[in-house]
Amino acid sequence: MTTEPSFRESVDIMFNRAVKLMDLSPGLEQKIRVCNSTYTVRFGVRLRGEIHTFTGYRSVHSEHMEPVKGGIRFSMSVEQDEVEALAALMTYKCALVQAPFGGSKGGLRIDPREWDEHEMEQITRRFAYELIKRDLINPSQNVPAPDMGTGEREMAWIVDQYRRMNTTDINAAACVTGKPINAGGIQGRVEATGRGVQYALREFFRYDEDKAKANLTGTLKDKLVIVQGLGNVGYHAAKFVSEEDGSKVIAVIERDGAVVNPDGLNIELLKEHVTMTGGVKDFLAGEFIEDGASVLEMDCDILIPAALEGVINLTNADRIKANLIIEAANGPITSGADEILVNKGVVIIPDLYANAGGVTVSYFEWVKNLSHIRFGRMQRRQEETRHQLLLNELQRLGDDPSINWELSDSFKSKYLKGADELELVRSGLDDSMRAAYQSMRAVWHNRDDVPDLRTAAFIVSIERVAASYRSKGL
Ligand code: NAD
Repeated sequence: MTTEPSFRESVDIMFNRAVKLMDLSPGLEQKIRVCNSTYTVRFGVRLRGEIHTFTGYRSVHSEHMEPVKGGIRFSMSVEQDEVEALAALMTYKCALVQAPFGGSKGGLRIDPREWDEHEMEQITRRFAYELIKRDLINPSQNVPAPDMGTGEREMAWIVDQYRRMNTTDINAAACVTGKPINAGGIQGRVEATGRGVQYALREFFRYDEDKAKANLTGTLKDKLVIVQGLGNVGYHAAKFVSEEDGSKVIAVIERDGAVVNPDGLNIELLKEHVTMTGGVKDFLAGEFIEDGASVLEMDCDILIPAALEGVINLTNADRIKANLIIEAANGPITSGADEILVNKGVVIIPDLYANAGGVTVSYFEWVKNLSHIRFGRMQRRQEETRHQLLLNELQRLGDDPSINWELSDSFKSKYLKGADELELVRSGLDDSMRAAYQSMRAVWHNRDDVPDLRTAAFIVSIERVAASYRSKGL
C-alpha cells in the first residue's frame, strides 16, 4: 500500500516543485516555506452540567504583510498539520490575488452539529477570547474569516467579543470578516467564494489554448458538472454555473451519499432538501448513490470538489474522468494524485487561485470597516446625475426630425443606475479573479518547464512574497 504525505507535506511538495524552477536563495526559500508559529489552546466550557475541554489552533504562516488573514474552521478533523497547511495556502492565495495580507488559519476541533446555538455561542466566544487576548484576532495583526463549519453567525459573535474586550478600538469591526451586514459585513461576502469559482471558470473558458489543454471547447453552457459538498462554497458555485451559465450539474456528493440526474439537478431545490433533512438521500429528482466517493469518478466535463481535503488521492486519481477539476475546497487533491492527473492531461485550476474569491471580498470588507463607509455611498447618485445629463443630450439630438431616434426604456433604466455596493464588490472580485488567472496562465504558457497551472500559481505567489521579503532587507 502506498502512503500519502500529510496535508501540510503535500502543500510543501507542491511548493518545492515550483521553487525548483525559481532562482531563490536557499535561505529565503526556507523562510517562505516554514510556518512562523502555531498557537494551541485548550479551554474548558461548562455545558450540560459539566466542563468540556476543547482544543483550538491559530497558525501564522507568513507575516511578510500584516495583518495576516485566514479562516477559522470548526470540524473534528482540525489538528495542527491541517491548520498549518491551510495557513500556508493563505499566504500564497493572498499573494496571488494581491490582497495585502500574510497567511494564517485557525481551527477548533468540534462537531458543530452536536451543540445547540446557545452552546455554540459560549464555545465560540471563549475560543475568541483566548485568541483576542494574545492579539491572534486583531484588526491590524490577525483577521479571521469563515471556513468549513463557520459562517456569519460565528463571525458576529467574534466581533462582539472583540468589542467587549476593546471598547475604545474605533476599528473593532475590522477584526474579522464574513460578518453579517448589520454587524459591519459587506454585500456579496457570503456568496464570494462560490462566485469566485464561477468567475475563475468563465475566465478559463475565454482562452481557446487553455480549453484545448483540457480537451474542451465552447463555453460553460451545457457542460456537465459534478460538485462535492453543498455547503457555502459548493452550493453557490453550483447555483451560479447552472442558473447563470447554463451548465448542467449532473451530480452532487454530500456526507450521506450522492444524488445523480443526467438532465441536471435543480440546485435551489436540492439545497432546501439538504437543509431540511441533513443530506441528499430521498431527493426525488435524482437517483441516490450511497457510495458518494464513487461519483467523483463519473464522466463529466468539470469536477468541483468543494468539501474537504484529500478526497482525490492515490486510491482513485487514475479513475477520475473529468477533463477539468477546479479546486473549490482547499487541498482536495493530494500531491501524488496531482501528479497522476497532470500526467493524464487533466487540467487542474488550483485551490490557491480557485477559492480566493472569499479572501478577496474579505479584503474589501476589511477596507470598508477601516474607512467606516459603505462602497458607493459617495458616488452613486452623482454617477446617476451625470448619466441623466448624457441621456438628456442624446434624446435632444434624437428629437431632431432628420435623426429621430428614441432611446429604449430598458437601456435608459440600466444605464441610469449608479453602482451599489453589491455591484462594486462583484466588479472588484471579477477583476481580481481575471488578473490573477492571467498572471498564472502567462507563466504556464510562456515557460516550457512549467507543466501546470498549480506550479505556475505557486511561482507567481512565491515571487511576490520573496519580493516583499527582499524589500524588507531580508
Ligand atoms: P461548509 O461547512 O459550508 O460546507 C462543507 C460541505 O461539505 C457541507 O455541506 C458538508 O456536509 C459537506 N461534506 C462534509 N464532508 C463531506 C464528505 N465526506 N463528502 C461530501 N461532502 C461532505 O464549508 P465551506 O465554507 O463551503 O468550505 C468548503 C471548502 O472550501 C473547505 O475546504 C474550505 O477550506 C474552502 N474554502 C471556504 C471558503 C469560505 O469562504 N467559506 C473560502 C475559501 C476556501
